Amino acid sequence: MRIRNLTVQFGDLKAVDDVDLDIGRGEVVALLGPSGCGKSTLLRSVAGLEPEARGSIHRGDVDLTKVPVHKRDIGLVFQDGQLFPHRDVAGNIKFGLRMHKIKDTGPRVDELLDLVGLSGYQRRRVTELSGGEQQRVALARALAPRPELLLLDEPLSALDRALREQLALDLARLLRKAGTAALVVTHDHDEAFTLADRVALMRKGKIVQTGTAEQVWRHPVDEPTATFLGCGLILDAEIRDHVVAFDLGEVEVAWAPDGPARIGLRPHALVADPDGDLQGEVSGRVHRRDHVRLLVKIEHREVDAVASITNAPEPGQSVRLRLDPDGLAVLGDHPGQRE
Ligand code: ATP
Repeated sequence: MRIRNLTVQFGDLKAVDDVDLDIGRGEVVALLGPSGCGKSTLLRSVAGLEPEARGSIHRGDVDLTKVPVHKRDIGLVFQDGQLFPHRDVAGNIKFGLRMHKIKDTGPRVDELLDLVGLSGYQRRRVTELSGGEQQRVALARALAPRPELLLLDEPLSALDRALREQLALDLARLLRKAGTAALVVTHDHDEAFTLADRVALMRKGKIVQTGTAEQVWRHPVDEPTATFLGCGLILDAEIRDHVVAFDLGEVEVAWAPDGPARIGLRPHALVADPDGDLQGEVSGRVHRRDHVRLLVKIEHREVDAVASITNAPEPGQSVRLRLDPDGLAVLGDHPGQRE
């Protein structure tokens, strides 16, 4: 799939602004960005559901913008599944197959339910399924006609966190097994990184960066991207022989390119440790799932830091911090970052 110069304008607003994006055969691409940046509009344009879309979308030599929605060979999954409540599970999946004039649907339904981990659910009413099960049925329905491309719009965001994490892993495995290319819209980093071979970061209608999870996490292209990817502090640094030096200290980062740089610090770049070189005072403390987040005053500035649950200091106490390379990002477009 080759998207070129895709623009969607609503009045004065360019919801999608001159976007180029490629999706390879069987490749899973996540469209990641803050609320309102144009992700769903881009997805809808690929599906053919956005009449204002301008630009070209090609699959091989076929110009999809000239192909009606139902003939684009694309499967769709939305946030809330949008199943037919009056049909049972098998009925929902068969609907997708009948739309494509596929007969003898029984074996295919069984195969799909097996794939999504719902064997034996054929006769169940969809209204009696949990949210996670409903999303699995929606996925089975979308995959049923073996579409060339699957479009998923926030497929897991209606579910609670534990289920979302589990289902993201299942979905990642499932998409690989089905071999279907997919474009997944999400505002959740973890979800994007779990699901996708490649992440496309979107901001204000534009794709600002594409790369693997590791590439975009280590090298956010600019400050707003670094901030979106969790860097609370952006600083100037000097990197020599992989040692990153900045005004809080020095830390060795194996993958850091030499030269002057802007770096981003995520909270876990600063870890409470009695042997740490930095000294500060705790001004805030929030318990997280598996660690404690601290706000620490160091000289004139306040920085985010982390501590283990068992030895986290209280507000007002002094704390020593060490630098951890895992919390660092080096901003900019670095060689090897783009494919
Ligand atoms: P979210 O994660 O909140 O769903 P998003 O990144 O998917 O956000 P879109 O839904 O694509 O964002 O919306 C992008 C922008 O376009 C928003 O400012 C939205 O208000 C606007 N927009 C979307 N659809 C229309 C429309 N039909 N008419 C006018 N403006 C629209």
